[in-house]
Amino acid sequence: MVYIHPTHERVDPVNNLKKRQLDLSRHLSVEAKARLPNPIKAIWKVAQVKPGTINMGNGDPHHTLYPVCEMNFIVPSVSESDPVQAWRAGTGDQQIIASYKDEPCALSLRTALAYGAGAGLKHVRDALAELNDRIHAPPKHMVSLSLGNADALTKCYRLLGDPGDSFLCEEFTFSAMTNAALPLGIKWVPIRMDKDGLIPSDMEKILANWDETLQGKRPHVLYTIPCSQNPTGSTLSAERRRQIYDLAHEYDIIILEDDPYFFLQYDLDIQTTTIESYGYTRAMADVLPRSFLSMDYDGRVMRLDSFSKILAPGMRLGWVTCNDFFAEKLDMLTDSSSQHPHGLGQAFISELLGGEGWGIDGFMKWVSSLCREYQRRRDLFMDVFRREVESSGLASAETPKSGMFVWIKINVERHPRYRKSEKLDKPGAPVTNTADLMNELFRKLLDCGLVMMPASTFAIVDQTGRVPTDGHITDRVNFFRATFVGTDEVIEDGLKIFARGLEEFFCY
Ligand code: PLP
Repeated sequence: MVYIHPTHERVDPVNNLKKRQLDLSRHLSVEAKARLPNPIKAIWKVAQVKPGTINMGNGDPHHTLYPVCEMNFIVPSVSESDPVQAWRAGTGDQQIIASYKDEPCALSLRTALAYGAGAGLKHVRDALAELNDRIHAPPKHMVSLSLGNADALTKCYRLLGDPGDSFLCEEFTFSAMTNAALPLGIKWVPIRMDKDGLIPSDMEKILANWDETLQGKRPHVLYTIPCSQNPTGSTLSAERRRQIYDLAHEYDIIILEDDPYFFLQYDLDIQTTTIESYGYTRAMADVLPRSFLSMDYDGRVMRLDSFSKILAPGMRLGWVTCNDFFAEKLDMLTDSSSQHPHGLGQAFISELLGGEGWGIDGFMKWVSSLCREYQRRRDLFMDVFRREVESSGLASAETPKSGMFVWIKINVERHPRYRKSEKLDKPGAPVTNTADLMNELFRKLLDCGLVMMPASTFAIVDQTGRVPTDGHITDRVNFFRATFVGTDEVIEDGLKIFARGLEEFFCY
């Protein structure tokens, strides 16, 4: 069999911080170690390297027979001072983003619609690598495309997880993704949180006290959502991030930085003078939170970005940024499974971020304008919440700094049927009837015509679907996750229903 080692087109910026590359092979799963490259893709990649090579080896349909020659999208123009407001009002200029098969453009449909490398097309990866460089300035990292963070995460689990492995995560988390790891035999170890997110000292306690004879292999992966943590809406401070990174370094942990809400930050102090002198990208980079990727001097961060929350979720396009060793293994998995993301999306992104489209700076202008609009909705949500809900004393919420979620605490102990037993039935068993009352409240709200996500949905479960008995998490599920992304009417009407439902439930 011909074996050709995969290569990457992009040569990364010089690693100024650390020249040596850690040996990260111990983190690979048995599956990832056993995986062979797709041999056809390996030869295909070689054929791409030398221009003019006649490729009679691949089963690609001929581009003259693609039934498409042009693709146009009408998008808002970012020449408006506040492009999102102009777009919403229908008053702003528009722009056509065009891709052609046979005319010059950023990424020819000829290339976009052909088979490509699993990592995605060079044009798109280069544009995203540039965006990364300007925002995070990561030393020595590669960019591979994904079908969004859900796709990227499930691939990362397969890359790093073996049956019996334990991975760390926040105690309330995006269960759609943690549950996806359970059939692989991965066990989740929840880290306690407070209003500011994951508590580093609890992470340290877990790692320092880990007993391999009783608990199996010590966790070697942390899955975290640092901005607008789903579901709690918390955003990790720079100090916590630094502490978490240091712990990851000390205990040799790989950080899966799942950050789809990174670009949606509020109350940002964006400097007009910086915009005028250096543009939006620099001005935003100055005020966006410091990512784990940006502090990653030894290649232990796999950062997952997505267009889902800043363009549209149906785009199914995101990007993974990680060290070249993991990137190669990830690309091998993609080459032999989903293959690269769809060409139409890649063509659109190439044109949008290219010279004839918004460009990277225009994209960041759109993002900053989007932040203003979501901030307005967040503020409206919090105003209505304080007026309609918090005033009753039955619920409270912190104002989120980013993203889409408000984590609403229900003061369940004020319910006439709330019970707390002083003696434990068995170690770790719930001592309150919080979970039952919250379940009742959820159904009550549903009857009133409102859905909010109950905290129990986001509690870590084991392979049988049960919540582990230690940690008393069932006594702390007195929260709902609500989103503020809807229209003003949805926010007003939804929170009024919520207030009424709560008062009826508490028999006021
Ligand atoms: N991770 C988190 C924390 C999310 O909230 C979501 C979507 O809501 C995803 C991943 C999935 O994102 P994508 O649409 O990029 O697959």
